[in-house]
Amino acid sequence: MSATDATRWFFTRAARRMDLAERIQTLLLTPSRTVKVEVAIELDNGELGNFTGYRCQHANDRGPYKGGLRYHPQVDEDHAEALASLMTWKTAVVDVPFGGAKGGINCDPRTMSQKELERVTRRFVQQIHDIIGPQVDIPAPDMGTNATVMAWIMSEYSKFHGFSPAVVTGKPLDLHGSAGREEATGRGVMYATEELLRRQGRQLAGLRFAIQGFGNVGSHAARLLAEQGARIVAVSDIGGAVRNPEGLDIPRLLEHVARTRSVAGFEGGEPMPADELLVSECDVLIPAALGGVITRENAQHIRAGLVVEAANAPTTPEADEILEKRGIVVLPDIYANAGGVTVSYFEWVQNLQNFRWELDDINDKLRGRMAAAFETIYGLATRKKISLREAAYIVAIGRVGRATLYMMGM
Ligand code: GLU
Repeated sequence: MSATDATRWFFTRAARRMDLAERIQTLLLTPSRTVKVEVAIELDNGELGNFTGYRCQHANDRGPYKGGLRYHPQVDEDHAEALASLMTWKTAVVDVPFGGAKGGINCDPRTMSQKELERVTRRFVQQIHDIIGPQVDIPAPDMGTNATVMAWIMSEYSKFHGFSPAVVTGKPLDLHGSAGREEATGRGVMYATEELLRRQGRQLAGLRFAIQGFGNVGSHAARLLAEQGARIVAVSDIGGAVRNPEGLDIPRLLEHVARTRSVAGFEGGEPMPADELLVSECDVLIPAALGGVITRENAQHIRAGLVVEAANAPTTPEADEILEKRGIVVLPDIYANAGGVTVSYFEWVQNLQNFRWELDDINDKLRGRMAAAFETIYGLATRKKISLREAAYIVAIGRVGRATLYMMGM
């Protein structure tokens, strides 16, 4: 099943329960546009590098298009469109005044130099600067991109349109970035987990977590959860996996990763095959890497009682049904990882106001947004006896649908 078909499946299930007419479903599902551009650069060795860049703008009735840029060999039109629609539902679930977009370049940043990455980024902005902007479409980091890439985007965009910090979020602190943005997705994952646990009369301290992916999202989530007394018993990344039933020493693991670029070989735990992480012994499983990793095949063997989707679209529809039947609670991506775009919203507001907020203020506001969104979807899920994912989609589709019809004058 393609990424688009998978996200469409979740949408359609919720839309049918809402008795939404077919034509409105089509209206809400169809992206406004997808732009595909050539991104050719000179590589460091003097040869030509051919890449393709994408930007899918899915919906903008609730506010400017918003969403990350992913640098990964898998990036294509299908991925951009699927992930852009997830952004539309995500911004609606946490009720920030944005629509949804996503894009990226089909390059592998791990094999490229900083200079090559900079050239690819600036070339991409030269190709798309006319369709992005502070009130039009605001990119942000995603897999394979970071604050430095956002700085290049701001710099290149500003050459065409004048000084414009609000054109992109997730920028460095020294270049109009926001306090708390880098760790925001991981922090939001923690707040989301806490909200659910509180309803179950449980707490983070002592719970065993397994985390797939130790990039920006997974590593900050691990650190923040461990600070609250959670035990991170297994972690994997592209280089391998480690486990320690007593709980990994996360500050030491972070030092190891800063040195070696992988969790593999960490001495504070024992190595394990990375593909066993999803089915390892734990209370909470956090997929924080690529999409489509929880499948019909492994869903049967997941031992966690709770899955918190820090990644976008980590669970296929078939796997989702299996988890639901097995009574495994899933905190869905469009809620669980919305902390990133929420603090992106705070960054954008600060940029537009030329004003800086304090970190504590940002974290409080983030917690408030995550708590309010949880209250809404948890209440609906409980009343209707449906999953949190379906409830989140119903809330999002309702908000986007009403805005869309107002904007059309219908
Ligand atoms: N790429 C992140 C996401 O998937 C953040 C998007 C943003 O901040 O605009 O939610």
